[in-house]
Amino acid sequence: MADDHSRQIEQFTSALKSRGRFATKQRVRVLEYVLGTRDHFDAEDVLRALKTDKTPVSRATVYRALASLEKCNLVRKVSVGNGRWLFEKVPGKRHHQHIYCAECGKIMEFSEPMIEKRIEEVSRAGGFTLRDHSFQIAGLCNECKRRLEKDKGRVCGQPTPQGR
Ligand SMILES: [Zn+2]
Ligand SMILES: [Zn+2]
Repeated sequence: MADDHSRQIEQFTSALKSRGRFATKQRVRVLEYVLGTRDHFDAEDVLRALKTDKTPVSRATVYRALASLEKCNLVRKVSVGNGRWLFEKVPGKRHHQHIYCAECGKIMEFSEPMIEKRIEEVSRAGGFTLRDHSFQIAGLCNECKRRLEKDKGRVCGQPTPQGR
């Protein structure tokens, strides 16, 4: 695991160098944070984490570092609706799809062999060699559904349905 990390840091360092940029301590810390996560995160999460471990880093640096990591295929962006995006690391992650809550942005991963198989078939039938694919399902999580129903009940002056 640690070896993988140093290999990925090296990959990132040389990718930056090839574009005439240096792997500053801050950029490497962003990568280390990313490699250490299992979840989906946004730039603010990175900023918060780096602040608590006292790595002085600006918001702009975090955004730029994440953009570089995306170019190196070390992170990928996942849309969670309303123009919001989350990041996730690429190394060590198996292929999966996402379902997210269109209200609060909560995200869940799933992988479904049947869907994967169909996607391959559809590509082949269309004369394409499949390189990559992703899709997101937008939904409403149970908490948001409950909250919205309660709010609606309040606005309309109707009692909230109980026992559901
Ligand atoms: Zn929600
Ligand atoms: Zn994911």
